[in-house]
Amino acid sequence: MRFGYDRIEIPTFEHANLFIRGVGEITDIVEKETYTFKDRGGDLITLRPEGTAGVCRAYLEHGMHNLPQPVRLYYYMPMYRYERPQAGRFREFWQFGVEAFGDADSAIDAEVIDLAWSTLREFGVTDVSLLLNSIGDKESRPNYLEALRGYFTPHLKMLSPDDQRRLETNTLRILDSKDDAIQPLLADAPKSIDYLSNESKTHWESLLAHLDNLGISYEVTHTLVRGFDYYTHTVFEFVPSSNRRQSTILAGGRYNGLIEELGGKSTAGIGFAMGIERLIEESVNRGGIEGPPQPKKVLIAHLGVGKETALKLTSDLRRAGIPAILGPSRGLKSQLRYAASIRATHAVIIGEEEVAKGKAVVRDLGKSEQLETPFENVLSVLN
Ligand code: ATP
Ligand code: MG
Repeated sequence: MRFGYDRIEIPTFEHANLFIRGVGEITDIVEKETYTFKDRGGDLITLRPEGTAGVCRAYLEHGMHNLPQPVRLYYYMPMYRYERPQAGRFREFWQFGVEAFGDADSAIDAEVIDLAWSTLREFGVTDVSLLLNSIGDKESRPNYLEALRGYFTPHLKMLSPDDQRRLETNTLRILDSKDDAIQPLLADAPKSIDYLSNESKTHWESLLAHLDNLGISYEVTHTLVRGFDYYTHTVFEFVPSSNRRQSTILAGGRYNGLIEELGGKSTAGIGFAMGIERLIEESVNRGGIEGPPQPKKVLIAHLGVGKETALKLTSDLRRAGIPAILGPSRGLKSQLRYAASIRATHAVIIGEEEVAKGKAVVRDLGKSEQLETPFENVLSVLN
C-alpha cells in the first residue's frame, strides 16, 4: 500500500470478553448485535463484529508495542453482526480498515483521513462529505458530560427510554440518536469543541490545518460522537452527500485509551473501518470504475485424438504462468461456448487434422482472429 500500511489478519472469533468491557459503557454492538455463544469447552466466544479490538489484542499479544512506533496496519475481512437485514445492512459484511499505533500526533489523524479519502476517490466515490468532530480527552470529558447532562435533564421526557437510560450510562451517545423528534434539541446541545483541554484543542486546531493543507474539506459536526471512554480527540465519518447519516460508508476515530484498557501501557491509536458493500453500492451508483485489464485466459479445445496433446499443452502453459483450462470433451461449438462463459481471452484448437499436421489453431476471442502454428510455438504466440 502506498501509505506504508502492512496487512494483518486476525481470527474470526475471539473470547467474548474482548468485546464486553466496562459495565455501563455498553454499545449497541455488544448489547444486541454480536453472535456470542458457548463453545464445547464452555468458553464464551464472539464472532468478530469489528476489527479494532482484535487488532489491538494482536498488537499486544505479539509484542508489536516493542517495534519502532508507529505501527501501521490494515485489514480486509468479513464481520458478523446480528442485525435486521436490509439495504446496506447485512449479518455478514466486509470491512476494510486501518489502525495506526504509537503516534499521538495529529499528522497521523490527517494521514488516516487522507487514506480514507483517497480510497473512496479510487472507487469513484467523490460525492461524499467528511464529518469531523473532537470529543476531547480524559481531562475535558467530565466537564463536557456535566454540561450535557445539565442540558438534557430538563428535557428528559422528550427522550426515548433508551436515551433516558443513556443519560447516566452513556451520555455522549444521546447526541447520536436517530430519533427525528429530538434533532432540534440535539442541534442546540453544548458542543464538545467548546470544552476541549489545552492539549486537545491544540490537537484539533492542528488537524484542521493539516486537512486544509491536504485540500480535504470537512464539516464540523457536533453530534458526531463515540460511546466509549477510550475514544479521544478526533472522530470522523464519510457519508454520501445526498443520503447523509443513513448510510455511513466509513467511520473512524482516535482511541488513545484502548490499548491500556486491554492491559497494555498507554499507547496512542487511531483508525477507521469502511463498509465494502456500502462502498460498492456508492461506486456503482456513480457509474462504477473501470477494472484492471482482463488477464489472459486460454481454453484448450480438443477433438478425438487431439486430447492427449491438448492435456499436455494445457499443463505446459500453466507451468509457463499462463492460466489455461482444458476444454470439456464435447463438440467444438460447445467448447467455444464454454470458453465464452468462463471469459477466456483465447482458444487453442487441436482436432484430428491439427494432430496430423503437428499444428494448432490459436484464436484471439476478443478480435476473432486466428492463426495456425506448430505445437511447440503455441506458448510463444500466447506470451
Ligand atoms: P451504522 O450506524 O450504519 O449501524 P455502525 O456505527 O454500526 O454503522 P461501524 O461499527 O462504525 O458502523 O462500522 C463501520 C462501517 O461498516 C459502517 O460505516 C458501514 O459502512 C459498515 N457497516 C456496519 N454495519 C454494517 C452491516 N450490518 N452491514 C453492512 N455494512 C455495515
Ligand atoms: Mg450499527
